[in-house]
Amino acid sequence: MSEVIRLLPDHIANQIAAGEVIQRPASVVKELIENSIDADATAVTLNIKDAGKTLIQIIDNGKGMSDIDARMSIERHATSKIQDANDLFALTTKGFRGEALASITAISHVEIKTKERGEELGTCLRIEGSKVISQEVCTTPEGTCISVKNLFFNVPARRNFLKSEKSELNHIIEEFIRIAIVHSEVELSLIHNGTKIHSLPAANQRKRIVDLFGQKFNSRLVPIVEETDIVKISGFVVKPEFAKKIRGDQYFFVNHRYFKHSYFNHAVVAAFENLLQPKSHPAYFLFLEVNPAQIDVNVHPTKTEIKFEEEKAIYSILRSTTKLGLGKYNIAPTMDFNRESEFDLPLSYKNQEVKPPTIQVDPTFNPFSSNTSKGSVTKVSPTKFEKSDALTKQGFGTVMPSKADWEDFYTVEEEKDNPSAEQQQIDEQEVDSVGSNIQLHGKYLISQVKSGMLLIHIKRAKERIIYDDLMHNFMLQPIASQTLLFPFEQSLSMKEKIEWENNKTTLKRLGFDWNFKGDELEILGIPNYLSDEVLKFAVDSIIQQLTFQDIDKGELAHTLISELATSAALSGTKKLQKEEVNHLVEQLFQCKEHVYSPNGLKILDTITIDELTKRFK
Ligand code: ADP
Ligand code: MG
Repeated sequence: MSEVIRLLPDHIANQIAAGEVIQRPASVVKELIENSIDADATAVTLNIKDAGKTLIQIIDNGKGMSDIDARMSIERHATSKIQDANDLFALTTKGFRGEALASITAISHVEIKTKERGEELGTCLRIEGSKVISQEVCTTPEGTCISVKNLFFNVPARRNFLKSEKSELNHIIEEFIRIAIVHSEVELSLIHNGTKIHSLPAANQRKRIVDLFGQKFNSRLVPIVEETDIVKISGFVVKPEFAKKIRGDQYFFVNHRYFKHSYFNHAVVAAFENLLQPKSHPAYFLFLEVNPAQIDVNVHPTKTEIKFEEEKAIYSILRSTTKLGLGKYNIAPTMDFNRESEFDLPLSYKNQEVKPPTIQVDPTFNPFSSNTSKGSVTKVSPTKFEKSDALTKQGFGTVMPSKADWEDFYTVEEEKDNPSAEQQQIDEQEVDSVGSNIQLHGKYLISQVKSGMLLIHIKRAKERIIYDDLMHNFMLQPIASQTLLFPFEQSLSMKEKIEWENNKTTLKRLGFDWNFKGDELEILGIPNYLSDEVLKFAVDSIIQQLTFQDIDKGELAHTLISELATSAALSGTKKLQKEEVNHLVEQLFQCKEHVYSPNGLKILDTITIDELTKRFK
């Protein structure tokens, strides 16, 4: 019998281990930044070429390594972070397996330049596929610079399975973000092909999130804090109205380590119950602190799965803490238009079939004739009012005076009772309070109609009118743009910038005009319906829609125009003047769809005399 079992040579063992630890360029990024942070670096720069296929370089100002440690660091199971098994239960560092450098150097060409603090000279070590090529004394700044080239040069299967550059870069950015969120005290930069993608100064937690995700997040974050014997929780959840269709920005960290946990995710989502649209996912950044002995981070080589001893208890604490945080915010909404308190968002509007308005032109229309043909939908002046089907349906037709003077429409009752011109004037002034047209809290219009009373939701009516007009213009020609006196600036995340540029034709057609100054979106012109006061709100809403990954291209114009209309309708929420009321009602009934807003919300409702009679029984 001959023995067949052999110990694998180190370089093969390393390659196999690499298969677990290093799946793609992003894994290298993760391991190297973690090492820099473990080495107490306060500034780390990540320099990437071709999504990591050509170069992954990390420069830190951490404590550096001696020449012997540098040589040791690439050995498997070589670590300075733990000494015996007990240390596994008191981990404060990210690494501890001593596998990362051994794995990376097994499957790429690596150069490590490092110098300890206070030393004059450093060391430069070159390794190719686990083989040390050279080690020399060198001049280099304090800290460590590791350059990884030709990743997977000896593992063609892995190399061939790499995804597109865009996809690999996204993975890298994601790893970078995970570390950046939880290490806000470290200055971090990410450069890709010479372009700065992120440049993050050391900051507090909130500022770091805002630096990463854009200024708009500042007002969206709801703080979460709780301290119990089992777990300390801090961080933020994002207000429910900004929940996304894709499961995006959901981040859990425990003891400064990112992890995934579907059970805890459930706890957070459960706290949002009734506040979310169906199939939408709230964003959160939650930091847990537990006794290191109570968790096992050793479940998976990349350490994103973590076992908690007190899982059930933490679930309940997470859920109730999040609920409490949201509750506090709900009671005290901030001053960000009405949106903040509007939890009654349209839950079903996405399912509604939206019919873009069709343009109807009456070919027989003669502007000089006083007798316009029936059914004409050409623009009607505020004083000339054509009785539409819609109005008749709402019970208006029967009380409409035949002389077609729309002003009289609301005052018809008074007119009958007060034949003298003088008296009529007085009555017209009183119409607002005693007549058939009442404005309630600047939000609703109440009108007398034959069957009882008609209620009109003013803001939604405005949305519908503006939407129809914008859509009409959008289909015929680009929407007229107004140039801003002072450009409006908004900082965008990389993803948002990409989406903005991807949709530039539509945005131009909507009446936007802009420049990019780096990540700063500088808006120079806006659609003519928007006013300064709602501009920020409009731009935020548009960006949010653009970054919904599953947005249907065919629906894009509708979605964006609805957002514009919603924003535009926010301006001038003060009480309307009588003429404005009249004009609004008139315009509303010119809209083909005047019962529902573009978001599918009810604009009109009636309370019949019968219903009223019942109430007083
Ligand atoms: P681990 O992080 O699990 O200890 P690694 O293979 O990632 O294993 O690193 C091996 C050792 O190399 C570390 O324990 C540390 O002592 C040293 N090291 C790695 N990167 C750096 C760095 N950027 N600065 C200082 N020391 C480092
Ligand atoms: Mg490590």
